[in-house]
Amino acid sequence: MPANVLFSARSALWPVYEPLLTQYLADAKVDARLSTEFEPDQVDYVVYAPNGGVHDFTPYTRLKAVLSLWAGIEKIADNETLTVPLARMVDHGLTQGMTEWVVGHVLRYHLGIDRHILVQDGVWEPEAPPLAKERIVCILGLGTLGEAAARALTALNFQVTGWSRTAKDIPGVTCLHGSEGLRQALSQAEIVVLLLPDTPATENALNAETLALLPKGARIINPGRGPLIDDDALLDALNSGQVGHATLDVFRVEPLPEDHPYWTHPNVTVTPHIASETRPVTAAQVICENIRRGEAGEPFVHLVDRTLGY
Ligand code: NDP
Repeated sequence: MPANVLFSARSALWPVYEPLLTQYLADAKVDARLSTEFEPDQVDYVVYAPNGGVHDFTPYTRLKAVLSLWAGIEKIADNETLTVPLARMVDHGLTQGMTEWVVGHVLRYHLGIDRHILVQDGVWEPEAPPLAKERIVCILGLGTLGEAAARALTALNFQVTGWSRTAKDIPGVTCLHGSEGLRQALSQAEIVVLLLPDTPATENALNAETLALLPKGARIINPGRGPLIDDDALLDALNSGQVGHATLDVFRVEPLPEDHPYWTHPNVTVTPHIASETRPVTAAQVICENIRRGEAGEPFVHLVDRTLGY
């Protein structure tokens, strides 16, 4: 009997993914049917995004796995109606996009690019930027995205410090963990990049106390998730000069409300959750590989630990 694969994401994505999933499932010789409209009790796999409309998994009585199109799974991680394995998206294209975005914004700060792009005031100040090897960048979160960004920045000769929940060993990166590791990482960080998941343990990772550990004038780049930062504490730190500038891609409420102080703060750059995105050509391969595994009785990859929330 073919496996029924329900595609539950933004409707505009269906014409993009349908031919890709069809092709890759055929290539992998997986007997499967794809639709956006199966009866819940006929579904074996849900290809899932939070805006696809499935919230209650109770009627999905023969479900084998939920395969997320998103890397961040905080909107489904605590869904108590979900009792089957949940896989998050680990997509080479998404990772590459995030690496490029992080490197671009780190270089903006490192080179002081704004000084010459935004201020053409007739003042000739020939001050060259330092070399990357003189700049300490700290990455909070050394998972798929954080490690890739750390490796790219290391390749450019930045001094990279990373922080994660468990101990890591990444060539050229000073890897720290635990609460003392966080203090150590932040105390020298001139540029901080947040690539942590949104979990109960990471909420307000940057708060008044941890922001105060930074060298004065440090810059923050957040492509992780909004709740990683205590917004009031960041605004205070920006107003006092403790934080020199912040580039924020993600927010507690999205779209960021029009009257939010971040929009008009002179030392904040807001980007509309575009740091990276799942790329269909590569992501569809990841989805199909997990369906193949499920049908072959092999373990799924990229499973979420629901107790940790990522
Ligand atoms: P991973 O799950 O691969 O990595 C998460 C990292 O965070 C791991 O290194 C993990 O530590 C660390 N971590 C988790 N909890 C803690 C904690 N309590 N203390 C310290 N470290 C912790 O995730 P990805 O790299 O794939 O993605 C990271 C996040 O990026 C996503 O959750 C999502 O929110 C965001 N994202 C944003 C996008 C955008 O466009 N803005 C696009 C895609 C993703 P350990 O390694 O020890 O487990």
